[in-house]
Amino acid sequence: MRLLLVEDDDHVAAALSAVLKKHGFEVVHARNGEEALQAVLPTAHGQRAPFAVVLLDLGLPDQDGYQVCGRLRRLTSTPVIMVTARSDVRSRIHGLNLGADDYVVKPYDTGELLARIHAVARRSGAAETEDGAAPGEAQEAAPLRLGPVAVELSTRRVSVDGVAVPLTRKEFDLLALLAQRPGVVFRREQIISEVWRTSWEGTGRTLEVHVASLRSKLRMPALIETVRGVGYRLVVPAPAG
Ligand code: CA
Repeated sequence: MRLLLVEDDDHVAAALSAVLKKHGFEVVHARNGEEALQAVLPTAHGQRAPFAVVLLDLGLPDQDGYQVCGRLRRLTSTPVIMVTARSDVRSRIHGLNLGADDYVVKPYDTGELLARIHAVARRSGAAETEDGAAPGEAQEAAPLRLGPVAVELSTRRVSVDGVAVPLTRKEFDLLALLAQRPGVVFRREQIISEVWRTSWEGTGRTLEVHVASLRSKLRMPALIETVRGVGYRLVVPAPAG
């Protein structure tokens, strides 16, 4: 797997690169935000091999790490793991809302970091693609239909009345989870552990933010019902008219 390591401290980068290479990663090192953005852009001769994961240190010399995350997100769908010394809940939520897929606080355990890298890559499908299955070969399961909403799990596409609605990775994961069992109440902790794979405090707020943005992006405020004190459930709308 190719991994982009964004880290301005050469000592930290060298040590981490050595560990990652030992575990089979091809590491590309960027020392600042500009190099990171350049690394994900296609070359003049065509597409580079995509990265499976970006490890992004938030303390960079040239640009704010959060800004770099937002820009990476607009350029590529490669999952981003933020690495930072800031452990406060607000920083984590800010990072997740900018589209980071996970958040690791320094000092971290290398084993845990590797586990998170693999988990994020697996979820995004990068690992499977590396193993030989072409992306197009994903199972062509019929989309889940929820009234006017169609959720295609294999392509991660969502449409309302046939019109595609772009969602962030986590918004899609949340909708896909609820949509697989319409009418069933999912507990908050259950959703957080399924979608964010963590139980850190503060994700509760992040969950609310994602529910609100799904309701508004799909223009269907009643699609996801809040079950007070418990969690959420998806309510399939009755056909119009
Ligand atoms: Ca740094």
